[in-house]
Amino acid sequence: MSIRGSLLVIGEVGVIILILLGIFGAANERHYVLYTLIGLIVVCGSTAALFWTTRLERKAKRSDELDHLKSEFVSRVSHELRTPLTTIKALTRLLQRGEVGDAKQREYLETISIECDRQIDLILNLLDLSRIEGGVFRISLECVEVDEVITSCVKGEIAAAERRRHKLEIKPFGHIPPICSDPKHLRRVISNLIENSIKYTPDGGLISVSADIEGNNVAIRVMDNGRGIPNEDLPILFDKFYRGHPTQYSAAAAAAASDEEFLEDADISGVGLGLYLARDVMGRMRGRISVETELGRGSAFTLHLPVWSADTCGKVASEVKDNAKTIAGS
Ligand code: ADP
Repeated sequence: MSIRGSLLVIGEVGVIILILLGIFGAANERHYVLYTLIGLIVVCGSTAALFWTTRLERKAKRSDELDHLKSEFVSRVSHELRTPLTTIKALTRLLQRGEVGDAKQREYLETISIECDRQIDLILNLLDLSRIEGGVFRISLECVEVDEVITSCVKGEIAAAERRRHKLEIKPFGHIPPICSDPKHLRRVISNLIENSIKYTPDGGLISVSADIEGNNVAIRVMDNGRGIPNEDLPILFDKFYRGHPTQYSAAAAAAASDEEFLEDADISGVGLGLYLARDVMGRMRGRISVETELGRGSAFTLHLPVWSADTCGKVASEVKDNAKTIAGS
């Protein structure tokens, strides 16, 4: 019998003692008090022990889950590092032999460059994760022009979008005031959202990036008409290592997707860190990230960031510094 089962039996024995006392105990007052005490001690003791074993069991389960997540993560990262390296090595060998024509050479060099970028992105994400976990992740806030950041991110992703025959566009927007942000990290977050839209939208999709003013915030939105995200996954969408699975398609979306799409989907690159890092970075800039999505129809991720003013940015920057001091001192 398990510890929990034994404790339940002990607790039940205590309850039975108390009931028997209720029936027969009144005859002898001295024994009545003694047995009542014993019954109460047995019930309270077993309840407390039950409570602690449940907590310990929960802790053990959580640690098992974390171990499982970690080993899944390590194998995913190894796969993500090995696959591009294998491609790079194979293409380099072909180029070294010098037997390929000019057009093929250009194509191979382009693929090598893409695979290198993929590795750099992964390594940067892993470095950010380790800095966040080590409490040494820093951002530096300044006045940032929204249209400049959006234009540079979209330019950087055009080639990747074209390879999947997606239309990637910037929705025209009016004057947007500058925001208080860390331009380097903001660029990485926006690029990551665009890359996700490219990855999780079937070929020939539509991806748009736009900006709006919402009160004292600016909202930067990346929208696609891709596969969408199941409602039940929304509470864990921004968790570390979360990755959606093709099996989570709705029956309708699954029926609509071709076999090729499914095969492709199962092998989409990623380790489940992009959205986790995006939420963390947004929080540090006193902003946030939100999502609206419909399964099989598409998703819109929005970054909400405070409008820049020497006042707000100064205040946010000093809060960020205070937090960093607290983390370093703890
Ligand atoms: P990764 O892309 O490396 O898996 P992310 O943290 O960027 O990690 O995304 C986590 C998961 O969220 C993805 O695996 C995918 O299932 C889902 N997701 C993110 N963006 C989109 C999107 N635009 N459309 C559909 N699903 C998405």
